[in-house]
Amino acid sequence: MCIFCKIVAKEIPADIVFESIGVLAFNDITPQAPTHVLVIPKWHHETAADLAAMAPATLAELFTVADQIAKTRDLDGYRLAFNTGESAGQSVFHAHLHLLGGRPFAWPPG
Ligand code: 5GP
Ligand code: ZN
Repeated sequence: MCIFCKIVAKEIPADIVFESIGVLAFNDITPQAPTHVLVIPKWHHETAADLAAMAPATLAELFTVADQIAKTRDLDGYRLAFNTGESAGQSVFHAHLHLLGGRPFAWPPG
């Protein structure tokens, strides 16, 4: 079982900020911004593209949940990211949407 599946199964603790039938959101263990939440499907899909192909409604829910969390925290803007593949920085191969906010962000990203 992958590390995020273990968090979903509550075998590993996480600071959970939202939970629905298909989606879990929790604070990143190494936050890169004042708000750094990972929004994930409860079912294991390796990448966002796999999730889009297999469960598009859940992919859409990740975005609406991220926006709701941002609104709850009164963020005036936020950045969403799916890292896909090692060269893009993906280190956990269970699809996860990074919600980053609370500080300015440069463009292009590093
Ligand atoms: P990636 O590098 O795959 O895009 O993002 C993986 C993210 O998961 C990283 O930001 C990392 O800090 C976070 N992460 C890895 N292991 C854990 C964990 O056990 N708990 C939590 N809350 N976050 C984790
Ligand atoms: Zn998994």
